[in-house]
Amino acid sequence: DGVVKIGGAKGNNHDNTLLDLAGRVKRGERWVLCHGVSGAMDALCSAAGLEPRYVVSPSGYRSRFVTDREMVLFEKASFSETAKICSFLGAMGVPTVPINPMNGTLVLGKVKDVIRALEGNRTILLRGNRSGKITRIDNDGIHAIIERGFLPVFPPLARDESVPRYINIDGDRLAGSIAASCNARTLVLLTNTPGLLENVDDPDSLIKDISLDEWHVAENAAKGNMKRKLLACKEALEGGLQEAVIADSRIELPITNAISGGGTHLW
Ligand code: ADP
Repeated sequence: DGVVKIGGAKGNNHDNTLLDLAGRVKRGERWVLCHGVSGAMDALCSAAGLEPRYVVSPSGYRSRFVTDREMVLFEKASFSETAKICSFLGAMGVPTVPINPMNGTLVLGKVKDVIRALEGNRTILLRGNRSGKITRIDNDGIHAIIERGFLPVFPPLARDESVPRYINIDGDRLAGSIAASCNARTLVLLTNTPGLLENVDDPDSLIKDISLDEWHVAENAAKGNMKRKLLACKEALEGGLQEAVIADSRIELPITNAISGGGTHLW
């Protein structure tokens, strides 16, 4: 029925989403779950005495900068989040498959070793990057898991298509790619705001609907991480998805709210 992504940042509520999802799956709906790890990763970094590193690309996208050193922690944060989510859902009577992209070819990606980043008003080159983009989603493999009655739970990791190692990918874009390649009915990106806001600081300024034709309105409103959520939606819509929703995770029944008109609907 859909792909849902739960945010990893502070302020997101996973319990409400997982309760909502468990009820739906037990009623026979078929979903895929993706999750972020930003909060857990920041916590692991500070416990290890590492400053979390972020970079802003020349086109304005902010992302985590992960080298081999940070990647060890990123993998740990990812697996512990996946395990937490799966054990919560298991306790609710929902059988899950925690996805480890190294055990197969469900999610393949490609590292961009050298990236450009803004430093003040200069563009610099950074080497040793372990983040990358998704190059292939095995939709047959994902369908096989769902058909057998399991809910697949994806961390923001891919298997490098050329070397057996993990790479860091964006969870929102992973959810978008899965939604488009599996012909999902909807993509639900849940976050710690009511949706896409006209003005980030005004929770009453929710943009309720936006189509690809008027995308500049959305792009002008989105700052920081919201820009990447929009990119994830755009890629999925251009890949054939009918509708995406960016909505609040902090309320009761967040998925139900999102698919019954709440949040920002994008098509
Ligand atoms: P998550 O971990 O939930 O995916 P992110 O931190 O990646 O969360 O993205 C959500 C954040 O995007 C919000 O907390 C908000 O600060 C920021 N943001 C920037 N621009 C907007 C906007 N126009 N509307 C809503 N949120 C925005």
